[in-house]
Amino acid sequence: MSYTKGLQEVGDGLYAYLQPDGGWGWSNAGLVVDGERTLLIDTLFDLALTEEMLRTMRDAVPAAARIDTLVNTHANGDHCYGNQLLGDARIVASERTAEEMSELPPAAMAALVEQAPKMGELGAFFLDCFGRFDFTGIEPTLPGETFNGELVLHVGERELRLIEVGPAHTRGDTLVHVPGDRVLYSGDILFANAHPIAWAGPVSNWMDACDRILAMDVEVIVPGHGPLAGREDVRELKAYFEYLYAQARLRHAEGMTPLQAARSISLDRWADWGESERLVVNLANIFGELSGEHQPVNALAAFEQMAAHARSI
Ligand SMILES: [Zn+2]
Repeated sequence: MSYTKGLQEVGDGLYAYLQPDGGWGWSNAGLVVDGERTLLIDTLFDLALTEEMLRTMRDAVPAAARIDTLVNTHANGDHCYGNQLLGDARIVASERTAEEMSELPPAAMAALVEQAPKMGELGAFFLDCFGRFDFTGIEPTLPGETFNGELVLHVGERELRLIEVGPAHTRGDTLVHVPGDRVLYSGDILFANAHPIAWAGPVSNWMDACDRILAMDVEVIVPGHGPLAGREDVRELKAYFEYLYAQARLRHAEGMTPLQAARSISLDRWADWGESERLVVNLANIFGELSGEHQPVNALAAFEQMAAHARSI
Protein backbone atom coordinates (compact mmCIF):
# COMPACT_ATOMS: atom_id res chain seq x y z
CA MET A 1 0.00 0.00 0.00
CA SER A 2 1.19 3.50 -0.76
CA TYR A 3 2.41 5.83 1.95
CA THR A 4 0.14 8.82 1.46
CA LYS A 5 -1.56 11.18 3.87
CA GLY A 6 -5.02 10.16 5.03
CA LEU A 7 -7.18 7.18 5.86
CA GLN A 8 -6.42 3.64 4.70
CA GLU A 9 -8.46 0.54 5.40
CA VAL A 10 -6.31 -2.15 7.02
CA GLY A 11 -9.10 -4.63 7.72
CA ASP A 12 -12.90 -4.79 7.74
CA GLY A 13 -13.85 -1.66 9.71
CA LEU A 14 -10.22 -1.07 10.72
CA TYR A 15 -8.39 2.03 9.54
CA ALA A 16 -5.04 3.75 9.78
CA TYR A 17 -4.65 7.52 9.47
CA LEU A 18 -1.15 8.19 8.15
CA GLN A 19 0.89 11.41 8.15
CA PRO A 20 3.98 11.21 5.93
CA ASP A 21 6.87 11.63 6.32
CA GLY A 22 6.53 10.17 9.81
CA GLY A 23 9.35 12.36 11.19
CA TRP A 24 9.26 14.34 14.46
CA GLY A 25 5.60 14.93 15.40
CA TRP A 26 4.10 13.42 12.21
CA SER A 27 2.31 10.54 13.91
CA ASN A 28 -0.26 7.97 12.79
CA ALA A 29 -3.61 7.18 14.40
CA GLY A 30 -6.19 4.39 14.12
CA LEU A 31 -9.95 3.95 13.88
CA VAL A 32 -11.97 0.83 14.71
CA VAL A 33 -15.65 0.71 13.68
CA ASP A 34 -18.32 -1.92 14.23
CA GLY A 35 -21.84 -0.80 13.24
CA GLU A 36 -22.42 2.44 15.12
CA ARG A 37 -19.67 1.79 17.68
CA THR A 38 -16.32 3.56 17.25
CA LEU A 39 -12.92 3.68 18.89
CA LEU A 40 -10.04 6.02 18.03
CA ILE A 41 -6.43 5.15 18.74
CA ASP A 42 -4.49 8.36 19.47
CA THR A 43 -5.06 11.97 18.51
CA LEU A 44 -2.48 14.17 16.73
CA PHE A 45 0.01 16.87 17.76
CA ASP A 46 -2.18 19.94 17.43
CA LEU A 47 -5.83 20.90 17.14
CA ALA A 48 -5.84 21.73 13.41
CA LEU A 49 -4.27 18.39 12.46
CA THR A 50 -6.64 16.46 14.73
CA GLU A 51 -9.65 18.40 13.36
CA GLU A 52 -8.59 17.56 9.80
CA MET A 53 -8.20 13.88 10.70
CA LEU A 54 -11.63 13.69 12.38
CA ARG A 55 -13.21 15.36 9.33
CA THR A 56 -11.52 12.85 6.99
CA MET A 57 -12.77 9.97 9.16
CA ARG A 58 -16.36 11.33 9.24
CA ASP A 59 -16.39 11.77 5.46
CA ALA A 60 -15.24 8.18 4.86
CA VAL A 61 -17.10 6.48 7.72
CA PRO A 62 -20.31 8.24 8.89
CA ALA A 63 -20.32 6.39 12.25
CA ALA A 64 -17.07 8.23 13.09
CA ALA A 65 -19.11 11.43 13.59
CA ARG A 66 -19.29 10.18 17.16
CA ILE A 67 -16.22 8.58 18.74
CA ASP A 68 -17.26 6.45 21.74
CA THR A 69 -13.80 5.61 23.07
CA LEU A 70 -10.30 7.03 22.67
CA VAL A 71 -7.19 5.04 23.57
CA ASN A 72 -3.92 6.96 23.98
CA THR A 73 -1.02 4.57 23.32
CA HIS A 74 1.43 6.78 25.24
CA ALA A 75 1.99 10.25 26.66
CA ASN A 76 3.91 12.07 23.90
CA GLY A 77 1.94 15.08 22.63
CA ASP A 78 1.85 13.85 19.03
CA HIS A 79 -0.47 11.09 20.28
CA CYS A 80 -2.69 13.01 22.72
CA TYR A 81 -2.64 16.81 22.28
CA GLY A 82 -5.83 16.64 20.19
CA ASN A 83 -7.80 14.86 22.95
CA GLN A 84 -10.00 17.86 23.76
CA LEU A 85 -11.74 17.57 20.35
CA LEU A 86 -13.26 14.21 21.27
CA GLY A 87 -16.17 15.68 23.24
CA ASP A 88 -17.43 13.28 25.88
CA ALA A 89 -15.61 10.17 24.60
CA ARG A 90 -14.38 7.74 27.21
CA ILE A 91 -10.55 8.13 27.27
CA VAL A 92 -8.47 5.09 28.24
CA ALA A 93 -4.72 4.74 28.79
CA SER A 94 -2.31 2.82 30.99
CA GLU A 95 -1.93 4.31 34.47
CA ARG A 96 1.72 5.19 33.79
CA THR A 97 0.77 6.95 30.55
CA ALA A 98 -1.93 8.96 32.31
CA GLU A 99 0.61 10.04 34.94
CA GLU A 100 3.18 11.00 32.31
CA MET A 101 0.58 12.95 30.29
CA SER A 102 0.00 15.21 33.26
CA GLU A 103 3.75 16.02 33.30
CA LEU A 104 4.03 17.02 29.62
CA PRO A 105 1.66 20.00 29.31
CA PRO A 106 1.19 21.53 25.84
CA ALA A 107 1.79 24.99 27.35
CA ALA A 108 5.41 23.97 28.01
CA MET A 109 5.84 23.00 24.33
CA ALA A 110 4.27 26.31 23.26
CA ALA A 111 6.70 28.21 25.55
CA LEU A 112 9.72 26.26 24.23
CA VAL A 113 8.81 26.95 20.59
CA GLU A 114 8.41 30.64 21.46
CA GLN A 115 11.80 30.83 23.18
CA ALA A 116 13.61 28.62 20.64
CA PRO A 117 14.86 31.48 18.40
CA LYS A 118 16.92 32.72 21.38
CA MET A 119 18.28 29.27 22.25
CA GLY A 120 21.11 28.90 19.72
CA GLU A 121 21.84 25.50 18.20
CA LEU A 122 19.40 23.73 20.53
CA GLY A 123 16.60 26.14 19.63
CA ALA A 124 17.27 25.75 15.90
CA PHE A 125 17.12 21.96 16.17
CA PHE A 126 13.96 22.15 18.28
CA LEU A 127 12.29 24.35 15.62
CA ASP A 128 13.38 21.93 12.89
CA CYS A 129 11.51 19.20 14.80
CA PHE A 130 8.47 21.08 16.09
CA GLY A 131 8.27 24.52 14.44
CA ARG A 132 5.49 23.50 12.04
CA PHE A 133 2.97 22.62 14.78
CA ASP A 134 0.68 25.02 16.65
CA PHE A 135 0.62 24.36 20.41
CA THR A 136 -1.65 27.27 21.30
CA GLY A 137 -5.13 26.70 22.71
CA ILE A 138 -4.52 23.09 23.71
CA GLU A 139 -6.23 22.09 26.96
CA PRO A 140 -4.68 19.02 28.60
CA THR A 141 -7.40 16.35 28.42
CA LEU A 142 -6.42 13.31 30.44
CA PRO A 143 -7.75 9.74 30.46
CA GLY A 144 -10.70 9.14 32.76
CA GLU A 145 -10.01 5.42 32.87
CA THR A 146 -6.66 3.70 33.41
CA PHE A 147 -5.37 0.13 33.58
CA ASN A 148 -2.19 -1.77 34.41
CA GLY A 149 -0.96 -4.71 32.36
CA GLU A 150 -3.81 -5.68 30.07
CA LEU A 151 -7.35 -4.59 29.35
CA VAL A 152 -9.95 -6.06 26.97
CA LEU A 153 -12.29 -3.59 25.25
CA HIS A 154 -15.17 -4.27 22.88
CA VAL A 155 -16.20 -2.21 19.88
CA GLY A 156 -19.55 -3.70 18.95
CA GLU A 157 -18.81 -7.39 18.44
CA ARG A 158 -15.10 -6.82 18.01
CA GLU A 159 -12.59 -7.58 20.73
CA LEU A 160 -9.54 -5.37 21.30
CA ARG A 161 -6.67 -6.20 23.64
CA LEU A 162 -4.72 -3.35 25.18
CA ILE A 163 -1.30 -4.62 26.24
CA GLU A 164 1.03 -2.41 28.25
CA VAL A 165 4.65 -3.11 27.23
CA GLY A 166 6.35 0.00 28.66
CA PRO A 167 8.54 1.39 29.99
CA ALA A 168 10.27 1.48 26.60
CA HIS A 169 9.71 4.47 24.27
CA THR A 170 7.85 6.12 27.18
CA ARG A 171 6.82 4.95 30.63
CA GLY A 172 3.52 3.28 29.81
CA ASP A 173 3.52 2.29 26.10
CA THR A 174 0.43 0.32 25.08
CA LEU A 175 -0.18 -1.94 22.08
CA VAL A 176 -3.73 -2.28 20.71
CA HIS A 177 -4.25 -5.74 19.24
CA VAL A 178 -7.31 -6.72 17.22
CA PRO A 179 -6.79 -10.50 17.23
CA GLY A 180 -9.83 -11.37 15.08
CA ASP A 181 -8.39 -9.31 12.21
CA ARG A 182 -4.66 -9.92 12.84
CA VAL A 183 -4.06 -6.16 13.08
CA LEU A 184 -1.86 -4.40 15.61
CA TYR A 185 -1.73 -0.69 16.39
CA SER A 186 1.74 -0.44 17.92
CA GLY A 187 1.97 3.22 18.93
CA ASP A 188 5.62 4.33 19.03
CA ILE A 189 6.90 0.86 19.92
CA LEU A 190 7.43 0.80 16.15
CA PHE A 191 8.69 3.71 14.02
CA ALA A 192 8.66 2.26 10.51
CA ASN A 193 11.77 3.16 8.48
CA ALA A 194 13.05 5.53 11.18
CA HIS A 195 15.19 5.34 14.29
CA PRO A 196 13.21 4.69 17.45
CA ILE A 197 13.88 6.92 20.46
CA ALA A 198 14.15 5.49 23.95
CA TRP A 199 12.94 8.29 26.22
CA ALA A 200 12.22 5.86 29.04
CA GLY A 201 13.74 2.43 28.47
CA PRO A 202 15.48 0.31 29.47
CA VAL A 203 16.03 -0.67 25.86
CA SER A 204 16.15 -4.34 26.91
CA ASN A 205 12.50 -3.97 27.90
CA TRP A 206 11.74 -2.59 24.42
CA MET A 207 13.38 -5.70 22.94
CA ASP A 208 11.06 -7.81 25.11
CA ALA A 209 8.15 -5.82 23.63
CA CYS A 210 9.44 -6.77 20.13
CA ASP A 211 9.40 -10.44 21.17
CA ARG A 212 5.90 -10.04 22.48
CA ILE A 213 4.72 -8.72 19.09
CA LEU A 214 6.61 -11.42 17.21
CA ALA A 215 4.78 -14.05 19.27
CA MET A 216 1.40 -12.66 18.14
CA ASP A 217 -0.55 -13.75 15.09
CA VAL A 218 -0.35 -10.37 13.35
CA GLU A 219 -0.34 -9.53 9.66
CA VAL A 220 -0.61 -5.74 9.51
CA ILE A 221 1.02 -3.33 11.95
CA VAL A 222 0.01 0.33 12.06
CA PRO A 223 3.18 1.94 13.46
CA GLY A 224 3.18 5.14 15.53
CA HIS A 225 5.10 6.81 12.69
CA GLY A 226 5.87 5.80 9.10
CA PRO A 227 4.21 3.57 6.50
CA LEU A 228 2.13 0.47 7.25
CA ALA A 229 4.38 -2.29 8.48
CA GLY A 230 4.59 -5.97 9.32
CA ARG A 231 6.41 -8.45 11.52
CA GLU A 232 9.64 -8.10 9.51
CA ASP A 233 9.84 -4.45 10.60
CA VAL A 234 9.67 -5.53 14.25
CA ARG A 235 12.39 -8.12 13.63
CA GLU A 236 14.55 -5.38 12.09
CA LEU A 237 13.94 -3.10 15.09
CA LYS A 238 15.04 -5.84 17.47
CA ALA A 239 18.13 -6.51 15.33
CA TYR A 240 18.94 -2.77 15.41
CA PHE A 241 18.79 -2.76 19.22
CA GLU A 242 20.95 -5.91 19.39
CA TYR A 243 23.50 -4.23 17.12
CA LEU A 244 23.47 -1.05 19.26
CA TYR A 245 24.02 -3.09 22.43
CA ALA A 246 27.03 -4.85 20.90
CA GLN A 247 28.51 -1.56 19.66
CA ALA A 248 27.68 0.26 22.90
CA ARG A 249 29.36 -2.40 25.05
CA LEU A 250 32.70 -1.91 23.25
CA ARG A 251 32.57 1.87 23.44
CA HIS A 252 31.31 1.98 27.01
CA ALA A 253 34.28 -0.20 28.01
CA GLU A 254 36.59 2.31 26.29
CA GLY A 255 35.13 5.14 28.37
CA MET A 256 33.47 7.00 25.49
CA THR A 257 30.54 9.37 26.05
CA PRO A 258 27.28 8.56 24.23
CA LEU A 259 27.99 11.43 21.78
CA GLN A 260 31.49 10.11 21.00
CA ALA A 261 30.02 6.63 20.58
CA ALA A 262 27.25 7.90 18.28
CA ARG A 263 29.84 9.64 16.09
CA SER A 264 31.94 6.50 15.81
CA ILE A 265 29.23 3.92 15.03
CA SER A 266 28.47 2.91 11.47
CA LEU A 267 24.71 2.68 10.95
CA ASP A 268 25.19 -0.43 8.85
CA ARG A 269 21.98 -1.62 7.17
CA TRP A 270 19.93 0.96 9.10
CA ALA A 271 21.71 3.87 7.40
CA ASP A 272 18.65 4.87 5.39
CA TRP A 273 16.35 5.13 8.42
CA GLY A 274 15.19 8.67 9.24
CA GLU A 275 15.99 10.76 12.34
CA SER A 276 19.45 9.24 12.89
CA GLU A 277 20.21 11.94 15.49
CA ARG A 278 18.15 9.75 17.87
CA LEU A 279 21.03 7.28 17.96
CA VAL A 280 22.75 9.34 20.66
CA VAL A 281 19.72 9.14 22.97
CA ASN A 282 19.40 5.39 22.46
CA LEU A 283 23.08 4.98 23.28
CA ALA A 284 22.78 7.17 26.39
CA ASN A 285 19.93 4.92 27.50
CA ILE A 286 21.92 1.74 26.86
CA PHE A 287 25.03 3.21 28.57
CA GLY A 288 22.88 3.80 31.66
CA GLU A 289 21.78 0.18 31.62
CA LEU A 290 25.38 -1.04 31.13
CA SER A 291 26.52 1.02 34.15
CA GLY A 292 23.72 -0.37 36.27
CA GLU A 293 22.40 3.19 36.69
CA HIS A 294 19.59 3.19 34.19
CA GLN A 295 17.15 6.08 34.32
CA PRO A 296 14.87 7.79 31.79
CA VAL A 297 16.64 10.46 29.76
CA ASN A 298 16.15 14.14 30.56
CA ALA A 299 14.29 15.53 27.52
CA LEU A 300 16.14 18.85 27.36
CA ALA A 301 19.56 17.21 27.72
CA ALA A 302 18.50 14.70 25.05
CA PHE A 303 17.65 17.51 22.61
CA GLU A 304 21.02 19.15 23.30
CA GLN A 305 22.79 15.88 22.53
CA MET A 306 20.72 15.31 19.37
CA ALA A 307 21.37 18.88 18.18
CA ALA A 308 25.12 18.29 18.67
CA HIS A 309 24.99 14.91 16.93
CA ALA A 310 22.81 16.22 14.05
CA ARG A 311 25.55 18.80 13.35
CA SER A 312 28.12 16.05 12.94
CA ILE A 313 26.04 13.70 10.74
ZN1 LIG B 1 5.09 9.74 18.29
